[in-house]
Amino acid sequence: MPHDPYKALYIHIPFCVKRCGYCDFCTSAVAKDSPVMDEYVEDLVMQIRRKSKEGELGAIETVYIGGGTPSHLGLSRLSSLLYALSLSMHLTPEVECTMEANPESLTERMVRDIWAMGVNRLSIGVQSFDDEVLAILGRAHSARDAVAAVQMAKERFENVSVDLMAGIPGQTAESFVASVRTAIDLGVKHVSVYPLAIEPGTPFDKAILKGWMEEPDEDVEADMMEMAGRILEEAGFHRYEVANYALPGFESRHNSSYWSGVPYLGLGRSATTMTQNAQRRMRVCDGQVTDDLNPAQMRAEDLMLAMRMARGVTEAQVEEAARLLPAAPSAFAQLEELGLVVCEEGRFKPTERGWLCGNELYGRILDLAP
Ligand code: SF4
Repeated sequence: MPHDPYKALYIHIPFCVKRCGYCDFCTSAVAKDSPVMDEYVEDLVMQIRRKSKEGELGAIETVYIGGGTPSHLGLSRLSSLLYALSLSMHLTPEVECTMEANPESLTERMVRDIWAMGVNRLSIGVQSFDDEVLAILGRAHSARDAVAAVQMAKERFENVSVDLMAGIPGQTAESFVASVRTAIDLGVKHVSVYPLAIEPGTPFDKAILKGWMEEPDEDVEADMMEMAGRILEEAGFHRYEVANYALPGFESRHNSSYWSGVPYLGLGRSATTMTQNAQRRMRVCDGQVTDDLNPAQMRAEDLMLAMRMARGVTEAQVEEAARLLPAAPSAFAQLEELGLVVCEEGRFKPTERGWLCGNELYGRILDLAP
């Protein structure tokens, strides 16, 4: 269908050193010399060239190479990928280009070379700086590796992010707080904090069903998330999205595009592409249509996604949405009564409770569309 230009590009790398016990992402453990990774990168390079020829990469403003573990590809394959990108689109410094890396596979040389080839933001999958917690998670790196990886990254990258996880069985509040403080002390500019989610079919799910592992306690998770917020805010970070904190100017533009109705192109296995025009929004993953929205549903989804962001939506946007969603103004007034949103300076913003009860908040907004 004729569509608005893609503004964001996501490239999925579905390989890891080993599988972590909680993970249900599309990824598999492969040896670092596996020909499977060579073939996959060759195929990605062809897809990038094809999309460039079709004129789909001309308006891309952010690139995100995620996984899986992109750093597990090793430098030679990453070089092929980044070289193809640099020939196929304007990979200028204005384009935010993020790559995910894990401590066990990031090297000094990789840091230097990917930076020279246009990556300007590095997101490091740390989860915890506590060896006992890392062992429970089944991670392939130690706390020392994680500290070393952040220090290495900072040699070249100004914009370094780490992921941390809360509510892991066996993780104490002290351990979690120490990890948040370590991230701050290491000088990262962005921190993503997630509560552990038990996904069906994962080793963690099976261990809980068999009684070998305790189920994460939602209250403990909520307390830890709140502690993280307090500590990060004291250090100058602000929570710009439900799970993301940044120092001013270091908010992830790529992630923000997912929450602001920006069309994105996904390349690689299980990467979603969102294509849209004024009449229709479609999401396609591995050749399957996963969403096909009409204008009213699009508008409801835009309002819902915007409420993941601290800035929320303006009263004027809600009024405007009422042309397609007549119940929108009364629904936002009701959300305010429920304490899920607050109206400040002409904007409806999610409250802490709204973020904690996200399913209720987002569900009520999505229900606005027939
Ligand atoms: S490293 Fe990340 S993507 Fe890979 S198995 Fe662990 S959690 Fe999943």
